[in-house]
Amino acid sequence: MTRPVVIVGAGLAGSLMALLLARHGHEVEVYERRPDPRLEPGDAGGRSFNLGMSARGLRALEHVGLAHALSGRTVPMRGRMIHRPGRPPLFQPYGVNEREILHSVRRSDLNRLLIEQAAAYPGVRFTFGARCVAVDRDNAVLTVADPDGARYEVKAGYVIGADGAFSKVRQEMQRGRAADYRQEFLPWGYKELTIPPAPGGGPRTEIEALHVWPAEGALIVAHPNHDNSLTCTLFLPHGDFEGLATPESVVAFFGTRFPDIPELIPDLVTEFAAHPVGHLVTIRTAPWHHGDTVVLLGDACHAVYPFYGQGMNSAFEDCLVLDECLRRHPGDMAAAFQHFERLRRPHTDVLADLSAQNFLELRDRVRSPLHLARRRVDLLLNRFFPRSWVPLYTMISHTTTPYAEALRRAQQQDDLLRRLGWGLAAGAAFAAGAAFHRIPRGKEALTSDN
Ligand code: FAD
Repeated sequence: MTRPVVIVGAGLAGSLMALLLARHGHEVEVYERRPDPRLEPGDAGGRSFNLGMSARGLRALEHVGLAHALSGRTVPMRGRMIHRPGRPPLFQPYGVNEREILHSVRRSDLNRLLIEQAAAYPGVRFTFGARCVAVDRDNAVLTVADPDGARYEVKAGYVIGADGAFSKVRQEMQRGRAADYRQEFLPWGYKELTIPPAPGGGPRTEIEALHVWPAEGALIVAHPNHDNSLTCTLFLPHGDFEGLATPESVVAFFGTRFPDIPELIPDLVTEFAAHPVGHLVTIRTAPWHHGDTVVLLGDACHAVYPFYGQGMNSAFEDCLVLDECLRRHPGDMAAAFQHFERLRRPHTDVLADLSAQNFLELRDRVRSPLHLARRRVDLLLNRFFPRSWVPLYTMISHTTTPYAEALRRAQQQDDLLRRLGWGLAAGAAFAAGAAFHRIPRGKEALTSDN
């Protein structure tokens, strides 16, 4: 009997990969340590339940015919709404046309949809409450523990490690081998808070935008939800979280750093106490596979900070590329895995750098007049020369241009701008700013930083 493909992790990458393999008629078994999210209302994971889906993620969903099914569960985000104490919020559009937007989706909704679709294939079996505790990498045999601690073995044709940033499969695959591994923890952590709908059920703030509250040594980002609530993520140095142990300290903290937040989150103190602090990590590693028996996917091989909103999007892109490599090398898994790593790793390495840089942009630069001017120049040039001038953010979020290629092109554009003297261009962009700034649903755009 042929052995099934075994996937460890029924998160976003694992469940999409199961679906892709099932479509080619493969037998697939998926082992997931958490309970079945289809049986649990709300967010089983309890953390980071909103994600920004951009062109790469959408393309993957279109490929498996799910973009339409998801569209009723997403909220469009047409740009960033930057909040500034004592001044009106500033809207920065994501692009220059209606297609250049992001979509906010609940992680749990997306995960459930993918699992439901994959599980509908007769050759696919999900086992929940099943933790991978060991991998015999040479023989593609997993040891799995059930919730009572009982262990059993699973023999695989090959193993796909889609078990996230702290991957057990990666650990087992690389144990005692010549392997590169670099893990960087951001000294900042995150905590989720919810802005509930207003008493009448409407939103308390603009709903079709990603909201950003940059502050001294702190940052809040909020994604909209379908029910008119918004999910906020507060980013803060770990030490500062420790200092917020009492209701008084929480009230004082928000009062000084984010004065408009207490009005938006009436239950702020309770909310703050109820949610754990999460860690943010970048992981770079090589190799991504072991011969023809084990391969890694998604965060397991390239976890990035969330500030470019590309972790899931790039994990979905991995799935399409791995699927394509498996088709190009039928019966030769080693070649397929090698090809996959060669195609992807240079790009996900670049994404790791960009994601770290975007942390600084969101935290420090989104309000800076210089930064705003540069952004306008980029958008203006993009409007006039849509094919030859594309801002880096646009390439990353609204196209599927490979990440390293996008960076190379953006660097060329930067060089050109420097040579031309971009002060001149900035002046022109300011003058023309109102012409291309748009805000959702026909409202007037806030185009200046005054
Ligand atoms: P995961 O989603 O982590 O799934 C791994 C799965 O493996 C989990 O279900 C886990 O339970 C399971 N597992 C782990 N160990 C085992 C084991 N030993 N045995 C069995 N199962 C196991 N990305 C975006 O594209 N856009 C965003 O806006 C965005 N925002 C984010 C905000 C925050 C605060 C964070 C932290 C991340 C964000 N991301 C975003 C990144 C995104 O969440 C990840 O990149 C994505 O979830 C990676 O998918 P994955 O399937 O590789 O890993």
